[in-house]
Amino acid sequence: MRRPLVAGNWKMNGTRASVAELIEALSQQDIPAAVEVVVFPSFLHLAQAVSGLDGEMIAVGGQDCAAEAGFGAFTGEQSASQLADVGCEWVLVGHSERRLILGEGDEVVSKKFAAALECGVIPVLCLGETLEQRQAGQTLKVVERQLARIIADVGISAFEKAVVAYEPVWAIGSGLTATPQQAQEVHAAIREQLARKDQRIAEGVRVLYGGSVKVENAAELFGMADIDGGLIGGASLKANDFGAICRAAGN
Ligand code: PEP
Repeated sequence: MRRPLVAGNWKMNGTRASVAELIEALSQQDIPAAVEVVVFPSFLHLAQAVSGLDGEMIAVGGQDCAAEAGFGAFTGEQSASQLADVGCEWVLVGHSERRLILGEGDEVVSKKFAAALECGVIPVLCLGETLEQRQAGQTLKVVERQLARIIADVGISAFEKAVVAYEPVWAIGSGLTATPQQAQEVHAAIREQLARKDQRIAEGVRVLYGGSVKVENAAELFGMADIDGGLIGGASLKANDFGAICRAAGN
């Protein structure tokens, strides 16, 4: 039985004051114990979130990490070692905004994924196709290629400690959501690809759906057989909505 996971990606949002308000409001939410919850604030607000959520059932993660695991001359980068040091247990890797806006390819995503594991930080590996790729019928091929690179470089056993997030790029921040059936098709394909290497690991790995998840559509998406929770962007900035989405994952 896979424990549902709901993750909130705050992206490049927030000030010290608004983050304090969000943390306070999240602390008031009734979150089912059966659901694991993690939020990803900006790097500037990590320490504030770690201390503000101390004692709550909400973990904190970084939105990215360097391809280098340790320390050194990489101006502007933050390593997974540093994330662990400030109390982060999680990190997003390969988010489509980093792949498409910042030009991260499969090779660098794979290095970041490995660096996170090396530091004991759980990577949430984001995969997904663009609208053009979906319209060209390439969705499964694209997602398979993105995942294959990680399996080839890091090995299937890495997925005992990692989470996968399927996020169709056309659904992120657009208000368009994949239908539960569209999402399920890709989630099942991801699990099948992992199962070709190791059935047990494939059955245990959590595959989240991300892309305009809202209070209104969360329950239907989370009701699909291979959808184990969500990676939530916009709606994670509203504590009441995020709390309701967490409760939907618990039902
Ligand atoms: C995301 O950024 O990972 C995301 C899914 O955003 P949104 O929920 O706003 O589409």
